Order: sequence, then structure tokens, then C-alpha cells
Amino acid sequence: MNQTADVVIIGGGIMGASTAFRLAERGVKVTLVEKSFLAGGSTGKSSAIVRQHYSNETTACMALYSLRIFQNFSEIVGGECGFAQTGFVALAAAKDREGLIANVQLQQGVGINTKMLSRAELREMAPGMADLDSVAAAYEPEGGYADPSLTTASFGEAAKRLGAKILQETEVTGVIMQSGRAKGVVTNKGEISAGAVVNAAGPWGARVAKMIGVDLPIQPCRVQVSFFEAPPDEKPAPHVFADFPNVTYFRPETGGMTLIGSIDPSEANAHVDPDHHNERVDFDFIVEMGTQLAKRFPCMERGNSRGGYAAVYDVTPDWHPVIDEVPAGSGFFIAAGHSGHGFKLGPAVGAMVADMITGDETEDLNPAMFRFGRYAEGKPVRGRYEYSIAG
Ligand SMILES: Cc1cc2nc3c(=O)[nH]c(=O)nc-3n(C[C@H](O)[C@H](O)[C@H](O)COP(=O)(O)OP(=O)(O)OC[C@H]3O[C@@H](n4cnc5c(N)ncnc54)[C@H](O)[C@@H]3O)c2cc1C
Repeated sequence: MNQTADVVIIGGGIMGASTAFRLAERGVKVTLVEKSFLAGGSTGKSSAIVRQHYSNETTACMALYSLRIFQNFSEIVGGECGFAQTGFVALAAAKDREGLIANVQLQQGVGINTKMLSRAELREMAPGMADLDSVAAAYEPEGGYADPSLTTASFGEAAKRLGAKILQETEVTGVIMQSGRAKGVVTNKGEISAGAVVNAAGPWGARVAKMIGVDLPIQPCRVQVSFFEAPPDEKPAPHVFADFPNVTYFRPETGGMTLIGSIDPSEANAHVDPDHHNERVDFDFIVEMGTQLAKRFPCMERGNSRGGYAAVYDVTPDWHPVIDEVPAGSGFFIAAGHSGHGFKLGPAVGAMVADMITGDETEDLNPAMFRFGRYAEGKPVRGRYEYSIAG
């Protein structure tokens, strides 16, 4: 296999697939190389919550841009993404009400449909919820969740319809550099020459960057998700929740279940090798998640555990990605380190990477905040939610 392309993308998760689509749409000859299968990395195990609740404008704009694509997927991309618009509720401790209001105002300022909920509105929306007095709540009626594998497959199919090649079960083992410029990749099945290379390798992103001698501060970390079945007569509310006081997020899952995970930033301490880690959920994690869910929705004390799984986040020091050409002018582009909250931003990231390569500019999307140099400059991304998937 000795092939040529304008751009080779390494990695077939949501980032690689959406980038392939946006480049192919602009007439760029793309080859995407994936060592396993599309969505075989973090993306396929994502909880895939689609919310706009962020504490900085850049990311909120990316979330809003992406939401419009999830909502109109078959017209804009083609195929399905499985978006379920359930509404999204953010719960903060009552003492943090002012901070939540400030975030909601920031989001409203960039055009996001969101508002604070009164206690009566929250009670009406989630009648089985306990401890209403201890929380402040914000609501996004357009939030929800999607199907991450389906979304990625549909981006891949759309890219292929526009002429892109997708090589699965093909591993990039080296990046060809000549006079400081990326000229293609070496794979376990041969070489592909190209004018530019995109590193969209998620938790493997640091390993791929190392192929050209760049040290990318991405740490693969093990995270867990578990499922609970409600008792037959009752259910928690049908919305997606971020429950900051209880450090969890949860959402409806097929089969009448609730999917729940942690938003505790200490998950970043569970360093693993993304190729060799324990993919089974820990018993202690199930107990912890069951306890937190029942604290918020007491009916779940009578629910049943339905297991769970472990997966990998690609965490950077400020929990935001690197989206940049590194080194500048090298033709080696990085879109990795999405730190556990990247799925919902994937459609925007694809457009941003395509912009960097083709020189176009998509309105409301600006990658400057995600430049690689921010760490060396001592200027990490800062939002109101410091260093966690909340962003
Ligand atoms: C349990 C869990 C829950 C999550 N929940 C949410 C959520 O609710 N909402 C949200 O927005 N985000 C969520 N995320 C985060 C989100 O899923 C990720 O940020 C996003 O999927 C990252 O996509 P990616 O394309 O960068 O990486 P990946 O999906 O990991 O894709 C990278 C790909 O690169 C391939 N690759 C690596 N090295 C090579 C190589 N040398 N050659 C060829 N291919 C290679 C890998 O096989 C992999 O398929 C969650 C993540 C997890 C794990």
C-alpha cells in the first residue's frame, strides 16, 4: 500500500471522522487511518451528553455550533446521530447560586437557550427529586445525548461519499517529516504520502506527537460508568443531569435504565496505558454511584444495578484540548486531549481543524484558546469550573 492524499488523519473517533467530513466537503483529498475501527477508542464508550453549559465563551460557542449539527444531522451531514433532546439540568449547591447565574448569563450572551429554574419549576420538572432546598438549578431545554458510534460512523460515511478514504485496522507507526514539514505517515500496511497530517488520536495523542518529537501533555486516565434500573413503578426524571454537589452526571439509557458517571476531577489520577487497562467496572464504583443517585432520586434505593464498564479519558493539565499546528508551519495538526468532554464539541472541532488546514474561517469558532504554547506560557485555559470535565 503506497498511497497519496492531501491530508492524512490519524484516528477514527469523533474528532477524526468529523474533520474528515469537513475537509472532504471542501474538496480536500483525505485518508483517515484508524488502528482498530471507527469509534473504537474513547468515542465508542462515551456517555455522549450534549450540553452547552460551559463556563467560558469559546467552548460554549463550540457546543452551540455542534448542537445545531446534532439537531439537523441528516440534512447537514447525512445519516443519523441518534440525538435525543431530553433537556439538561445543571444542579449546583445553593451557596454557589451566584456562580451558576453568572454562567447562565455567559451562555445566554452567546445565544444559548438556557435559564435558571425556580424551586417550583424544578419540583414540577423532577417530582421525585430530593433535597430541592439545597440546590440551585439551571436548565437547557435543547440539551440531550446522542449515539456516539452512530454519529462517528455517519461522519465517516459522509466523508466517504465526498471522496475520503477510511482505512480501518491500520496503525500509523511513524510520521514522515522532511525539512520540518509533515510529508505523510508510515503504517503497518505501507506508506501514505500527504501534504499535512492530523493527530486525532485521543488518548494515544501524546504517543503520536512523540513520533515527531513533540511532548504533548496528554495523560490517558481510566474512568467508569455504571447503569441502574429503576423500580417498575417509578423513574428518575427523563432529563440529563449534571449534579455538582454529588459530583455525578446521569442520563436516561435504553431499556429504562439510568447511566451514571463521575465528574470528580481526581479521576485524572488513574493513569493507564490505553491499550492495556481494566475495562471492567469496580464494585466500589457501582456502590458509590448507586448511593449518589439514590441521594438525588430516593426511588432508586429500590433500583437494581446493571453493571457498567471502564474507559479512558485523554486529560490535559487544564482539561481542555490542544487544537493547533505544532510546530507552526509544519503541516502537523493536533486535535487531541479532549479531557472527557469532547464528544459534544466534535462537530465544531472538525470544522476548526479543517479551517486551520484550508485557511477558511467558520463563524463563532476560534481555536486560539487551545494553542499548544499556552502551557509553556503559563496561560492554561481558565473557566469558572476549574479543571474537570465541566469546563
Ligand atoms: C466514559 C466516557 C464518558 C464520556 N462522556 C462524555 C459526554 O457525556 N459528553 C462529551 O461531550 N464527552 C464525553 N466523553 C469524552 C468524549 O467521548 C471524548 O472527548 C471524545 O470521544 C474523544 O474523541 P477523539 O476522537 O479525540 O478520541 P478517540 O475516540 O479515542 O479516537 C482516537 C482514535 O485514534 C486511534 N488511534 C490511536 N493511535 C493510532 C495510531 N497510531 N494509528 C491509527 N489510529 C490510532 C484509536 O484507535 C482511536 O479510535 C466521555 C468519554 C468517556 C471515555
